[in-house]
Amino acid sequence: QISENRPVIRQLDEAAINRIAAGEVVERPASAVKELVENAIDAGAQRIDIAYGDGGKTLIRVRDDGCGMCAEELPMALARHATSKIDGSDLLNIHTFGFRGEALASLGAVGRLSLTSRTAEGEGATLSVAGGRMDAVKPAAAKPGTVVELRDLFYATPARLKFMRTDRAEAQAITDVVKRLAMAEPFIGFSLRDVSGGGEGRETFRADAESGDLFDALHGRLRRILGSEFADNALKIEAEREGIFLTGYAALPTYSRGSSIAQYLFVNGRPVNDKLLVGALRGAYFDFLSRDRHPAAALFLEVEPNRVDVNVHPAKSQVRFREPGVARGLIVSALRHALAEAGHRASSTVAG
Ligand code: ADP
Ligand code: MG
Repeated sequence: QISENRPVIRQLDEAAINRIAAGEVVERPASAVKELVENAIDAGAQRIDIAYGDGGKTLIRVRDDGCGMCAEELPMALARHATSKIDGSDLLNIHTFGFRGEALASLGAVGRLSLTSRTAEGEGATLSVAGGRMDAVKPAAAKPGTVVELRDLFYATPARLKFMRTDRAEAQAITDVVKRLAMAEPFIGFSLRDVSGGGEGRETFRADAESGDLFDALHGRLRRILGSEFADNALKIEAEREGIFLTGYAALPTYSRGSSIAQYLFVNGRPVNDKLLVGALRGAYFDFLSRDRHPAAALFLEVEPNRVDVNVHPAKSQVRFREPGVARGLIVSALRHALAEAGHRASSTVAG
């Protein structure tokens, strides 16, 4: 006989599962922006326009000119664990940002989400979901590409809403996320608008698609984002060790900062905040900087996807290298080499 107050095991419904998963994937408006912009990059977009209202709390809209989706695909895109990016048989060879197929399902569980899309040849279609409940797919006028609109983030999870910071702080976090992604994709044009209060709003960041070779484009993009002082003091970094490639720009020690805010690290195009890599950067400048100064750099590591695990955390800012020593050694030696060379030039041309 079952006692009155014994807890009963029940299967959670889909909406509840998505809400719980959303807690992992979507911490704040900026994490929603990150997922949506990564999707746009994965879709092969050349231009990505982002708008937000009230720090992203009331509105986040990401428009891209990528491959788009057809009407039949829209419900799939919003379903959990549905993805076009892997077939599940090869989790070690991930070449795209996405792969969990969770972001849109999670966002649709914690906000009012609408997805409007069109492929190059097809007709436009739109689909909305709110609190995990999906509408029917409807035809819609659309340009080729995709627009995702997310309104009232966390309206269904008031506890999470309480932890939001001020609009200003959330807008700052969104800007950071967009700038980081824009650094890694210099050939894609980005714009960010604050549309609080409706209308056209105010453009808060813009980086048009860069041209030239990768280093030209990256240098131009870093000038745009980190400023001319960084760009003028940045050393080009290009090195390889055992199949791990390092490219980017690292600033002269004289352009160091009082904090680590100007350190941008990427693995396979993915912004990371990884202890190992941050430590390597610090180590490289060890002889060139006093303890209270921090190097400024934007560094990009490329490695075969099966030699790095990006699956460590859903927010994916930590990574695990199969050969951490190689990645670390590569950064330390390439930067030390560039710094020593620059130092040598500086001391031979500047007296004293
Ligand atoms: P994931 O990115 O991990 O696959 P998402 O939930 O973010 O999971 O997206 C689910 C699927 O929806 C993607 O695999 C992709 O097929 C489709 N999709 C999402 N955003 C876009 C977009 N901007 N353009 C084209 N397809 C998209
Ligand atoms: Mg995704």
